[in-house]
Amino acid sequence: MEKMLEGKVALITGASRGIGKAVALRFAAEGAAIAFTHVTPSAAAEQTEQEIAALGVKVKRYVADAADYAATEALVADVVKEFGRIDILVNNAGITRDTLLMRMSEQQWDEVISANLKSAFNFCRLCTPIMMRQRSGSIINMSSVVGVHGNAGQCNYAASKAGIIGLTKSIAAEMGSRGVRANVIAPGFINTDMTGKLSEELRAEWAKQIPLRRAGEGEDIAGAALFLASDLAAYVTGQVLQVDGGMAM
Ligand code: NAD
Repeated sequence: MEKMLEGKVALITGASRGIGKAVALRFAAEGAAIAFTHVTPSAAAEQTEQEIAALGVKVKRYVADAADYAATEALVADVVKEFGRIDILVNNAGITRDTLLMRMSEQQWDEVISANLKSAFNFCRLCTPIMMRQRSGSIINMSSVVGVHGNAGQCNYAASKAGIIGLTKSIAAEMGSRGVRANVIAPGFINTDMTGKLSEELRAEWAKQIPLRRAGEGEDIAGAALFLASDLAAYVTGQVLQVDGGMAM
């Protein structure tokens, strides 16, 4: 059977571990060449690169801060030089700096808005001209159920993830006539390093709110991302797909 992303090139931010890694591996298994980024050098990132290469596709790893516009400009130019095109962009890089608004510092606000929202602007701004010239492209921006519904203790994170939704819908409106689609995935509670920091008590509290009675895995998000990246979603743009086990209906 033909692979779903054969011949495509995917650029994925924050894919050294967690959800980004699961997306990269799924895309690679479907035949896509993979360029991926992460922010700090780590053995885990090298391991991810090896796992992708073992699937028989071309892979290149970049250590870069997605919130840095100049660095992103150089990175995107290198991806085009190395891979020739960019068919799929996944803006997945993200961080949390959780605390109640009354305790939140300016720095905690700025760091989260930069890493989560400005990063997505940077990559969308620099990749869309390439996709427009190709007259095809699929952008997938990682939001969160928290961006749709809000959450106590996460004003900065929720604002960044709500911003992702506005950014994506606007891109969908601007770029549809050029064959470029843009959609959002809003994951619920997914088992990764990000949620591993939370207390057992909080994790149990979240689990009670999930009709499917389990936390999600990176692979659950990767399946949704594969759909949005592929031609199965050729008529889908500007949408927010919640992948959350029914947690936030
Ligand atoms: P994670 O912490 O396991 O991985 C985050 C990745 O992003 C890492 O590869 C890290 O290097 C990278 N990263 C962070 N800041 C970066 C920067 N400035 N530039 C480049 N790369 C950077 O997180 P995860 O749980 O896999 O989350 C991935 C995405 O999914 C995030 O955007 C997160 O907000 C979102 N999300 C996660 C959950 C969850 O429950 N885990 C729920 C909803 C949304």
